[in-house]
Amino acid sequence: MPTVETLSRPRIKPEHRAYRTVDGNVRIGSVIHGIGAEIADPQGWVWTLVEAMDGTRGPSAVVDEVLRAHPGLPGEDARQAMADLLAAGFVDDAGAPVPVPEREQVRYSRGVPLLRWMDLGPRTSPWDAQLRLREARVLLIGVGGTGGYAAQSLVASGVGHLHCVDPDSVELSNLNRQPLFRESDIGRPKVAAAVATLRALNSDVVVTGERREVRRPADLAELVRGGRQVAEGAADLDRDPGPPAYDLLVLAADHPDDIRRWANRVCLAAGLPWVDAGYRGPLVTAGVYVPGRGACWECLRAGEAARRDLRLAPGEDPEIASPRMPWNPATAVTAGLSGGLLAHAALALLTGVPALDPGVRFGINLMLPGDPVLQRTPRLLDCPACGERKTEEQRTEERE
Ligand SMILES: [Zn+2]
Repeated sequence: MPTVETLSRPRIKPEHRAYRTVDGNVRIGSVIHGIGAEIADPQGWVWTLVEAMDGTRGPSAVVDEVLRAHPGLPGEDARQAMADLLAAGFVDDAGAPVPVPEREQVRYSRGVPLLRWMDLGPRTSPWDAQLRLREARVLLIGVGGTGGYAAQSLVASGVGHLHCVDPDSVELSNLNRQPLFRESDIGRPKVAAAVATLRALNSDVVVTGERREVRRPADLAELVRGGRQVAEGAADLDRDPGPPAYDLLVLAADHPDDIRRWANRVCLAAGLPWVDAGYRGPLVTAGVYVPGRGACWECLRAGEAARRDLRLAPGEDPEIASPRMPWNPATAVTAGLSGGLLAHAALALLTGVPALDPGVRFGINLMLPGDPVLQRTPRLLDCPACGERKTEEQRTEERE
């Protein structure tokens, strides 16, 4: 964790450039809600301080500059204010080395400043987050609409390794919303076409794929362990040994119907964070789950069923309240939003930027674009998937 003393040339991040309000306060961090802040500055020295933190001088020279303009001020106050600005995420080090080769500096020269903008952790170099991404290994299930857009974003952003899984072949009806395929790909396995497109987009990323269908939880368990077989029947998901081969599961498939429930159970057992996204007509959402931190997918689902109050008879499946069709209606817009939100969730978990509290679904309803879409619920103690009070009966059920 950097401190003021470790910075060679402290600088207010360019994206966080401060300005003075008509009341004489200092506004810093841009006017984006969730980032910006307003600092009262009756004596005017905070303004002098942020102006002096322009990346041309060391911390002591910054303090000297402030004391020259405000001779009565204790130096300790200026130093503490600098530390507070650093802790709030408004400062980086203009003298920090750039730890990547020229080619990556150029390729990511627009993305890294956005990471710097959204990063509210004290950090000397904005490349820290990019390096975390470069180390990351991601398993992607489904390379259609949502998965295709998500894959494109992850590979363009510089994820380290993306492994793609999909059983289908490209069809004409895919082309209204699946960005990785061309007319010439019709009839070709989706995964082969997807891998070729993604490799052509960014040859610095390791992109691999396999044509495979997830038919049962054991298939998912095997995939997250990098293909190591999980014995049928003995697939004790609670105690199955072996760490996951990936840092994250990105789920962009909606078949079989139970695939999200399976992903939830498998990831809880493996301790693997996962994200998913999709659409129900004009409603597009993405979910973020980290075992042991916040609600799991099943907690959220139960919380949402209670909140929506569908007035269903006891035991009735909440699915009947929302039409679900085999042709799952979608356009390039809904698939693009869904894949974009999915990639955002993945990047946030992998890089920590922006900090995202897991156990949440968020999104957009195209019928009411200004209306927030947010599902959050506390972790349920009696959740059948992650609850502390899981019964032996439930554990047996999971093994099957
Ligand atoms: Zn749960």
